[in-house]
Amino acid sequence: MQIWVRMQRSNRYRLKPNEIEVIQRMRQGLRNVLVIGDLHEPFCLDAYLDFCLEQQSIHNCSEIIFIGDIIDNHYSSYHETSADGMGGLDELELAIKRIARWYNSFPFATVILGNHDRMIMRKAQTSAIPSKWIKSYKEVLQVPNWTFTERYELDGVQYIHGEGGTARTKCRADMMNTVQGHLHTQAYCEHYVGKNFRVFGMQVGCGIDHESYAMAYAKYGKKPAIGVGVVKNFGTLPLNVLMPL
Ligand SMILES: [Zn+2]
Repeated sequence: MQIWVRMQRSNRYRLKPNEIEVIQRMRQGLRNVLVIGDLHEPFCLDAYLDFCLEQQSIHNCSEIIFIGDIIDNHYSSYHETSADGMGGLDELELAIKRIARWYNSFPFATVILGNHDRMIMRKAQTSAIPSKWIKSYKEVLQVPNWTFTERYELDGVQYIHGEGGTARTKCRADMMNTVQGHLHTQAYCEHYVGKNFRVFGMQVGCGIDHESYAMAYAKYGKKPAIGVGVVKNFGTLPLNVLMPL
């Protein structure tokens, strides 16, 4: 009886089947990273989450990185907002609900902060509100186990959102393997090889539902590249995987 109680207790943090597979792979000594593109919730494609889960499984990814702009904050934008769009609270509540799906599927992840994520902080600053008054992202978005950061480095690869330019310029400027998002319409990986160096710059696609996103912005631009990045074998094998449409 006592053993049974102890077993039940140790089983408190139930692992999902995809997580059990990942742990088994980690024990085999692999480290592959799944890089999830800009979500801009609540304007992300519904099918993008399933696609990400599928790629995690296919490519044995034990590490999950969201490359930034997980939330759009359209209502709080500095640009003109759509008069037909949702109000601020509705948009935020819907975004939180939709981010819960991501959190459920990927309970441990690193989240790079993007320009849209930081919007509220910027607005507070222009209104002279000290940041101490502002709740943390984790609290507002209800994702206590996610780690939010401006930049993440793993296996000699830097993961940034990409406000400073493109992946191909950034990787050469820093002489470092670079993975970034931010541009929405580009997905590529380029390798630069010199006498004493070899670096790659990867531009990851995104998960944006162009129809609703464009509607929110009341304009129709170029179609986004829907896809993820995968960085396999300890930072040495970068791949762009585009979602079949
Ligand atoms: Zn973005």
